Amino acid sequence: MSAPLTPEHADVLVVGAGPAGLHAAFYAAWRGLNVTVLEARHEPGGQLTALYPDRRVYDVPGLPATPAADVIAALVRQLDGLPAQLHLNTLARTLQPDGDGWQVGAIGPHGPQHYRVGAVILTAGLGALLPREARVPGTHPDVRTDVPDPADLVGRRVLIVGGVPQATRAALELAQAGAQVTLTHRRAGFRGSPAELDALKAAQAGGQLTVLAPAVLLNVTPTGAALTVDGQPRDVPADTVLILNGYLPDLTPVQGWPLDWQGEYVPDGTGGRTTLSGVFVAGDLAASGQDFKLISVGLAQAAVAANHAAHHVRPDLRVRPGHSSEKRLS
Ligand SMILES: Cc1cc2nc3c(=O)[nH]c(=O)nc-3n(C[C@H](O)[C@H](O)[C@H](O)COP(=O)(O)OP(=O)(O)OC[C@H]3O[C@@H](n4cnc5c(N)ncnc54)[C@H](O)[C@@H]3O)c2cc1C
Repeated sequence: MSAPLTPEHADVLVVGAGPAGLHAAFYAAWRGLNVTVLEARHEPGGQLTALYPDRRVYDVPGLPATPAADVIAALVRQLDGLPAQLHLNTLARTLQPDGDGWQVGAIGPHGPQHYRVGAVILTAGLGALLPREARVPGTHPDVRTDVPDPADLVGRRVLIVGGVPQATRAALELAQAGAQVTLTHRRAGFRGSPAELDALKAAQAGGQLTVLAPAVLLNVTPTGAALTVDGQPRDVPADTVLILNGYLPDLTPVQGWPLDWQGEYVPDGTGGRTTLSGVFVAGDLAASGQDFKLISVGLAQAAVAANHAAHHVRPDLRVRPGHSSEKRLS
């Protein structure tokens, strides 16, 4: 597909839809600014949805003992009705001055994209959480490391390899969408929320999908994959093979930005300011938080950075946001 010719505009561009990025987006949008959030993954949530969606988090204020995926769902829900857009599967790569603001270059689902923006809030955390490579011998026409749109796999035979929560969730979603799913893992157990694991058992018992575990994937073949299940060789026919091994963080797409990096951190001054005017940082990436890589700390930094960004873009807006309880949202 050809690249869009015209850049998109936003008052504030947030890079990374982890908890810090989502809360920064909320605050800037709540101040009345148009916000676009770029996220490299197919879903928001950063480390919480990529690495531990099924684990309970105990130290987010107001959400005791809440599964990480639900913490993110609440932050996303908080954007409802506000002028904030999420651009998923979009990796930010370049930053250039553009008049009083910035131009950010990215690769999105349809190719290169440019954004002309008044301010940037960098909440890239550990880096873009990109799928781990699939190192499997053999050849097959359709091996993937991330979950495609379920609509694209309706009626297809899909072999999912992996025990991570993403594999459990993909098996359920794709089977529900009408794919013929076989889920396999080298261990007997799968990870997922209690509800997802119950749903997996029910789907298996009801014949909506097949589970082969523990099993060893030997190689892929042009028509599927060769496994050993209980020590016995077994060929599994498959039109699509999904090898889901979780994610690895990659900071390199933004590490070329001239932000006076201290290793994997960006130094932050008052209000989350960086060395570049109009570029702010919050969350795990901000140097000031080093020993406190925590959701609650990132949320607070995001609130501060977003309000400073709002004032930077619209000097008529005070930095201080006032109390939400005294304002109407809609
Ligand atoms: C196993 C585990 C358990 C944890 N448990 C807890 C806990 O109980 N309590 C707690 O407070 N904290 C916990 N943490 C830490 C917490 O997850 C982090 O502090 C938090 O996720 C940081 O949020 P963030 O938004 O700064 O970054 P991240 O969550 O890392 O999100 C950054 C996002 O930016 C995206 N991104 C990066 N670069 C780009 C780019 N160039 N273009 C587009 N998108 C990009 C990434 O894909 C990612 O989605 C845990 C961490 C782990 C790994």
